[in-house]
Amino acid sequence: MAKVYQATNVGKVRYNNEDSLAVIEPETYVVADGMGGAQAGEVASRMLVETVKNFLLKTPRPWHEKILAQAILLANDKILNTARRHGEYHGMGTTATVLSLEGRQAYFAHVGDSRLYLLRGNSFKQMTEDHSYVETLVRRGELTAGEARIHPMKNVLTQAVGAVTNLQIDTASFQAEPGDLFLLCSDGLTNMVDDVSIAKILKTAANPADALIEAALNAGGKDNISVIVAGVD
Ligand code: CA
Repeated sequence: MAKVYQATNVGKVRYNNEDSLAVIEPETYVVADGMGGAQAGEVASRMLVETVKNFLLKTPRPWHEKILAQAILLANDKILNTARRHGEYHGMGTTATVLSLEGRQAYFAHVGDSRLYLLRGNSFKQMTEDHSYVETLVRRGELTAGEARIHPMKNVLTQAVGAVTNLQIDTASFQAEPGDLFLLCSDGLTNMVDDVSIAKILKTAANPADALIEAALNAGGKDNISVIVAGVD
C-alpha cells in the first residue's frame, strides 16, 4: 500500500488549531477547517471529522461520492443542531474535503476552501473548486488567481458545513493511476505557498507533509496548516 503522510500545525500567529484531519482505513482522507468564535471552529471541524468517520465505518464500501456527500450532510445537521442548542457555538461551521480510494477509483466530496490536488507526472491540478467569495469573482473574470490570493475578503466562504440548511456539496469520481499523488490541505497552506512550490515539494521531499508545513511556516504561517499526502500504488 502506498505511503500516507499527514501533519497539522497551529501556525505562527493563531493560538488554537481549528483544523481537523483524519485518515480512515482503507484509503479515505478528510480535511476540515473550522470557523467561529471562541472554541467553536475546533468543535465544528472535529464534529465533521468524527461524524464522517463514524458514518463511513458503518457503511458498506465502496464509499463512492454520494456516500461521502451523505456523511457530510449528516455532519451538517449535527453541527447546526449543536449550534442551535449552545449559544457559544452560534455561527460555527467548517470546510470538508473528503477523498476515498477504492482500487483505482477515486471519489471525493467537498464544501468550502480546503482543497484536493492531484499530482500526476508533471501535471499538478486542483480537483476542487473553492466555495469562496473571491473564487466567484475569479470565475466572473473580475479577479485573477494571483489577486484572489491576497484579496482582503479571501477568507469569506460562500458556504460551510453547519452554517447553512441547504448545503450544496460538490462531488466527483475519476480513475486514479499508479504513481498519482493526492494532496488534501487547508487554506493555511495554499494562502502561504503557491502551487508551483507545492508541486515541487511533493515531487522531492522525503516526508512531503512535514515539508509542506515547514514551507507554510517559513512563509509566515498566518493560519493553521493541515495536509494529507496519499499515493496510489
Ligand atoms: Ca484556515
